[in-house]
Amino acid sequence: MKNGKKIIIAVPHGFCAGVRRALEIVEKALEQYGKPVYVRHEIVHNSFVVDSLSEKGVVFLESISRLPKKAHLVFSAHGVSPEIESTAAEKGYDIIDATCPLVKKIHLQAVSYSSKGYAIIIIGHKRHPEVMGTAGQVDESLIVESLKDVGKLPEIRQKRIACLTQTTLSADDTREIICAIRKKFRGRKIAVLNDICYATQNRQNAVKALAKKCEAVFIIGSENSSNANRLREVAENAGTKAYLVSGEKGVPPGALKGLSRIGISAGASTPEILISKFISSLNRKGWHNIETIGTEEKKIVFRLPERFA
Ligand code: SF4
Repeated sequence: MKNGKKIIIAVPHGFCAGVRRALEIVEKALEQYGKPVYVRHEIVHNSFVVDSLSEKGVVFLESISRLPKKAHLVFSAHGVSPEIESTAAEKGYDIIDATCPLVKKIHLQAVSYSSKGYAIIIIGHKRHPEVMGTAGQVDESLIVESLKDVGKLPEIRQKRIACLTQTTLSADDTREIICAIRKKFRGRKIAVLNDICYATQNRQNAVKALAKKCEAVFIIGSENSSNANRLREVAENAGTKAYLVSGEKGVPPGALKGLSRIGISAGASTPEILISKFISSLNRKGWHNIETIGTEEKKIVFRLPERFA
């Protein structure tokens, strides 16, 4: 029997085209070459995905210096710097690049603007592999994580500045940071390349609408997932209690008490099975009334590398 407890699911949520492509590449590499297949860094930031692939014979590692000769080495969806690429090539590994094409585009932008004499500012998280990969494309770059960092930026000798962004940032925060950069370097020519990707934007927009209708929002994803963290912040900034949980076990005790309307979304690296399991656990607690908010995004498919196409 239905009670008043309602679950609202944000659309779109979960896997994006870049994540789907990266996972397909690893699966195809396993199929074609057998185990082990090596992956530099987590292929995508989701521990369930990483654990499942590890069970199938994928070895995830940060340092690639000691792999067996001719090892099949996949670069994760976040991309790598040219330095890592050339180390892998020098060692004679079989390189399989699963970098998201939208990240590759940022690499090209960095190289192109830097070669035209622009100073490069990257807005993003300093220790995130995507930002490290982008920064590695050029000899010099400055990384800005927050509004506070803009104040600490040194004088820039170049007359022209190009601002690039990490793909998974909060669109609202990034807008503020760009405004502050424009203000600080007033008079300079500033090229703003907003690289927040379609998947990040669509999921954030859906969560904004979701948060307005719910007493609490649960974002399903891993703690190290940048886009899942941003979704939690977007919900919180919209005035709702928001939690980032890896699954039903991550729900803090008492978090559902007294609520009648909760929202669910998931980061771009969260598989649908985790969302289904989360909803099933809520069903068992008496939450049966389910609806969605938002509209399906256009299905985007990125081409696989030639060898798997
Ligand atoms: S979140 Fe965006 S940039 Fe990252 S893998 Fe997905 S589509 Fe590519």
